[in-house]
Amino acid sequence: MIEIKNISKWYGQFQVLKDCTTGVKKGDVMVICGPSGSGKSTLIKTVNGLEPFQQGEIIVDGTSVGAKNTDLPALRARIGMVFQNFELFPHLSVRDNLTLGQIKVLGRSADEANARGLQYLDRVGLLAQQDKFPGQLSGGQQQRVAIARALAMDPIAMLFDEPTSALDPEMINEVLDVMVGLAQEGMTMMVVTHEMGFARKVANRVVFMDQGAILEDSGKDEFFQAPKTDRARDFLARII
Ligand code: ADP
Ligand code: MG
Repeated sequence: MIEIKNISKWYGQFQVLKDCTTGVKKGDVMVICGPSGSGKSTLIKTVNGLEPFQQGEIIVDGTSVGAKNTDLPALRARIGMVFQNFELFPHLSVRDNLTLGQIKVLGRSADEANARGLQYLDRVGLLAQQDKFPGQLSGGQQQRVAIARALAMDPIAMLFDEPTSALDPEMINEVLDVMVGLAQEGMTMMVVTHEMGFARKVANRVVFMDQGAILEDSGKDEFFQAPKTDRARDFLARII
């Protein structure tokens, strides 16, 4: 479903992505880990066209992300993205956060958008919070709303960029539980995270990045039991 082929990207002289090649099959969960500054966020954002790249090709469900004639807004509408800092609209109620994109981007009626939005809000356990504003919710609740908002758009895949790293420890599991449920239902996912418990539970593949390059792209068991590089081994030793 997602093919990343020989992607390189530079900021001026600085090469942030170095010939990265990997891919995610439909229904698979890829976990991407690696030290801070290794290019994880940049790589995941190339997939829905949020970060342009100078070399290589990315194909998402048959569409070439970098091609000049690609309708990027249409592609983005089909790929859910959840960021570290929730990024809800602060001036809109939870319910309006859930319906805005469905109405503006997908052209759904307000009634339909409302029904879908509340269905997903219920699923993340927050139906009772529909009239609140994001600032009235905990970080964990805001992130669950952000996930529900993405799901209400019927995405073909979900991208997560460190979705729990801004949360207090006691809230991490409530977000991970939602993500585990999604993975078990067969959602295609790319997840930048250092939550190795999540990776062990649901990942099919683990990618390890360092200094802009993919150093490992392995099955989960292979990655945890026998990392190929010293850098991945050192990294694992430090975070587990
Ligand atoms: P990670 O998510 O793994 O922490 P990032 O993808 O955010 O890494 O960043 C990779 C590298 O690119 C870092 O060294 C960062 O400083 C650099 N970088 C990110 N955005 C920019 C930018 N707009 N201009 C220049 N350098 C950038
Ligand atoms: Mg990052």
